[in-house]
Amino acid sequence: MNALPQTPAPDTAAWRARDLAVLWHPCTQMHDHAERVPLIPIARGEGAWLIDHAGRRYLDAISSWWTNLFGHANPRIAAAVKDQLDRLEHVIFAGFSHEPGIRLAEELLRVAPPGLARVFYADNGSSAIEVALKMSFHYWRNVGRAGKTRFVALTGSYHGETLGALGVTDVPLYRATYAPLLLSPILVRSPDCYERAPGVSWREHSLARLADMRAALERHAHEVCAVIVEPLVQCAGGMRMYDAAYLTGLRALCDEFGVHLIADEIAVGFGRTGTLFACEQAAITPDFLCLSKGLTGGFLPLSAVLTTAAVYDAFYAEYASGKAFLHSHSYTGNPLACRAALETLAIFRDEPVLARNRELAAQLAARLAPLAAHPHVAEVRQTGLIAAIELVRERTPRTPFPAAERRGLRAYLYALAHGVLLRPLGDVIYCMPPYVIRRDEIDRMVDVAAAAIDHAVA
Ligand SMILES: *Cc1c(COP(=O)(O)O)cnc(C)c1O
Repeated sequence: MNALPQTPAPDTAAWRARDLAVLWHPCTQMHDHAERVPLIPIARGEGAWLIDHAGRRYLDAISSWWTNLFGHANPRIAAAVKDQLDRLEHVIFAGFSHEPGIRLAEELLRVAPPGLARVFYADNGSSAIEVALKMSFHYWRNVGRAGKTRFVALTGSYHGETLGALGVTDVPLYRATYAPLLLSPILVRSPDCYERAPGVSWREHSLARLADMRAALERHAHEVCAVIVEPLVQCAGGMRMYDAAYLTGLRALCDEFGVHLIADEIAVGFGRTGTLFACEQAAITPDFLCLSKGLTGGFLPLSAVLTTAAVYDAFYAEYASGKAFLHSHSYTGNPLACRAALETLAIFRDEPVLARNRELAAQLAARLAPLAAHPHVAEVRQTGLIAAIELVRERTPRTPFPAAERRGLRAYLYALAHGVLLRPLGDVIYCMPPYVIRRDEIDRMVDVAAAAIDHAVA
């Protein structure tokens, strides 16, 4: 196994030691940092790059956990936040309000799929999921359907780490340990096109999987509040992708069986899949649209749940009716975060972001294409600016590498040593770069990813 990529400069080593003495990092076996996996203190960021204390540069091919859209330290968003800092840093959002929160809600409703009428803020993706689950359940209770207490989720889905969000997640790595504490969703087979038979198109495969959803709703609709999905790409579950036709069919099924549709666009929203929201490609409006990650351009934690007038109206009554949604987070609607989000949306208005993303996506596809023939690559797949390469020990029949071999980690270490931050999901190597990545940077990202794959499978 690789040692650290280079002898660290004194600053880096000092920060690393101080960090490891006091911190506990997310989604990390801290023991890995003892010798195998370097912890990288970052001094500053610039465009698609992260720069450490020794001046070493890392191309952020994963947009810092899918949050960053327009580059690190983006001057436009930074200026907006600085301006807001001198006006109002925060105010309680119950009984009080503020311009950035109001304007952001107006703007989100303007750009979101038609039919959404209300915005409820929270401060991270998982909390947005909690809000949507509670609101859906509470809606049915308010309209006299208290027997609806369950949720339908897809196999391979990921909706966050808090107990409610983890409860509708189906990634064993995150879920299994906590299973005794969690909701028991009705799991329906995902339309995931990695599972399609040879010769079957994405569309055919995805549409066929609607039969599973229909069967589940026929049996369970009376006890189901909502179906929750990640539109088009199941990201944390391994960047598994499916056709938009599934979402169109799912919307119709939810209407037919009288259950809500929750679209978790926390990862895929804001232009990632080629349209501003993934739901647009299916021409549908969900009952709840959950947004976070790219919402603030990657600057500050914020999330929003958009819902319909019909849902809002079911809570609107005399206080004594007990129908109010009494859910809150201290930092609900933080003005600094709202300003960052407003500026992010302004960039979408002022610049041809989606058109440029489509060009970058085409270049990425062309550059990745040769990897499809690699003896240890089962599939190269892409939706917009998300591209994934699935590594296997054998292509036919598809046989994964034993998980204990941690091939993805080898790729991670190799790429890091060559100045690219890739963070594979198991043996799925993926690229999800900031939208400001340049064409030559895409070339570099792909060259390093390809070399990292050769290194990882050797
Ligand atoms: C990241 C993510 C979440 C959770 O968001 P956090 O801000 O990390 O809590 C939920 N759903 C999806 C699809 C995500 O990718």
